[in-house]
Amino acid sequence: MFERIPMSAPDITEDDVQAVAEVVRSGRLALGPKTEEFERSVAEYVGVEHAVAVSSGTAALHLVIKALGIGPQDEVLVPSFTFVSSANVVLYEGATPVFVDIEPDTYNLDPEDLERKITPRTKAIMVVDVFGHPAEWDRILDIAKRHRLLVIDDSCEALGAEYKGKKVGRFGDAAAFAFYPNKQMTTGEGGIIVTNNPEIAKLARSLRNQGRGEMGGWLNYERLGYNYRMTEMSAALGVSQIKRIETLIARRERVAHLYTKCFTALQWVRPPRVRPYVRSSWFVYVVELTEGLYRDPVMRAMAREGIPSRGYFSPVHLQPHIRREWNTREGMLPVTESVAQRTVALPFHGRMSEEEVNQVVEALDRCSKHL
Ligand SMILES: *Cc1c(COP(=O)(O)O)cnc(C)c1O
Repeated sequence: MFERIPMSAPDITEDDVQAVAEVVRSGRLALGPKTEEFERSVAEYVGVEHAVAVSSGTAALHLVIKALGIGPQDEVLVPSFTFVSSANVVLYEGATPVFVDIEPDTYNLDPEDLERKITPRTKAIMVVDVFGHPAEWDRILDIAKRHRLLVIDDSCEALGAEYKGKKVGRFGDAAAFAFYPNKQMTTGEGGIIVTNNPEIAKLARSLRNQGRGEMGGWLNYERLGYNYRMTEMSAALGVSQIKRIETLIARRERVAHLYTKCFTALQWVRPPRVRPYVRSSWFVYVVELTEGLYRDPVMRAMAREGIPSRGYFSPVHLQPHIRREWNTREGMLPVTESVAQRTVALPFHGRMSEEEVNQVVEALDRCSKHL
């Protein structure tokens, strides 16, 4: 038996460890200079005016929804082929999620279905750059402009990705990135809001800190807020990691290319497709089984080979809590449902060796023989 290959792994150096240790020794563990430094680094990297660091990507998205004033009277267009928090943050504020189908090749929002689902109550579009591949931004922004809709970019899987030469995170009214250990870079838990709108940034800063005002004291609360603050340890790790972000993404790209080279020979799996005018930042490596094959038996067979895999994604509109509340069901989003039965995420991180990639591909090939 070979060594177990992990599904994902953070890329941690001795410098990262030192950076966190220094903060711990300093005694300044919350609301300090590292958080501010991290915010400046991310804002500069993405090319936006403001960045507000928080405790998770979900918290970042929630504060964007709050700062934009989205509430119970509003509908928000969201993909179903996404991580559950893209829709959950809409529910936190009592708004209605309206699920939109996806493009069959990139798995991002389908602009045509998006426009069809606009009603007089539609207030915003939650755009997700799925698996690190940017959404079809020109067409989505054109629709948003014509219908006067707010645009939120859930870019939690796409730090460093580019659409026509511009980094994602700059296109909507505000965007969120996430730093869970399986993302392109990590702060343990963590997230950040980026925006060029000073009002959104100001509100997010207040809301992450119990609703405290800018000038008021520690025991003055301007609005109902949360404790969504990022710790200084996380921020220190973030500062250290973002210095290497281009290397981290290049390593992921190298592994993705190794996989793709192997899959061009296999008939029954299709490697991820990347549009010519985008740069993917490779959150996960997801293959698509051809029509007629299903991912669940493939994943079970892979597990028997000792290789982990994941069903990215399980459609949000078919989750029990969404079905119960919104009466959603099979058949509503044909492309999403078909794709979700056939997409499998393979073990993927920047430090995978060519040999490990080959082991995964060979295991997958063997599995195909017992289907
Ligand atoms: C990772 C992720 C988030 C945020 O996740 P957290 O675990 O809260 O940091 C949000 N949306 C998408 C699409 C994600 O992949």
